[in-house]
Amino acid sequence: MKLSKTILFDREAIASRIEDLAKTIDSDLAGTSPIALIALKGAMPMAMDLIRAMNTPFTVELIRAKSYEGTHSTGKVAFPIVPEGDWSDKTVLLIEDIIDTGHTATAISEYLRNDLNAQDIRIVSFLDKPSRREVECEANWVGFSIKDVFVVGYGMDYNEAYRDLPDIHTMEPSG
Ligand code: 5GP
Ligand code: MG
Repeated sequence: MKLSKTILFDREAIASRIEDLAKTIDSDLAGTSPIALIALKGAMPMAMDLIRAMNTPFTVELIRAKSYEGTHSTGKVAFPIVPEGDWSDKTVLLIEDIIDTGHTATAISEYLRNDLNAQDIRIVSFLDKPSRREVECEANWVGFSIKDVFVVGYGMDYNEAYRDLPDIHTMEPSG
């Protein structure tokens, strides 16, 4: 696989969509005291942009969930980094880069509900690939729905490369 020159969403399109999402989520979360839970590493740039664009005051926690090898979801979700504590009075805003098969967001939600007793869990994902779903899983807010293509940039990687790109590109077969 190699990086395609085609940009799917450029930095201006990303920034403008983040602004819109921030306004909507601010008004939907009014009156709660939310924790922003950042799903490392792919969601980091998006989370930082979103949290800064929002007026809601957040505390920030990190979780690392890993399911991908190369461009393939393994279906099994491992948690190398997890937050701890009792979150029974908390609304959690889980910030994801992309929802694909749905296994990761579902596994994180289950951990938050069962292990941390989170009162409420809302999910925002910058991208969504609904045609790839293997388990039922719907984000409360989505930046863009896309078809079944593998994307990189704006935090998202191909074997850890390309997370630093400011625009979102697709990958294409090499050769
Ligand atoms: P799921 O568990 O929903 O299949 O996958 C979620 C995770 O897989 C995402 O958080 C992301 O890390 C990775 N992923 C899924 N699709 C893509 C993609 O098109 N590009 C990249 N870079 N990662 C993806
Ligand atoms: Mg991720």
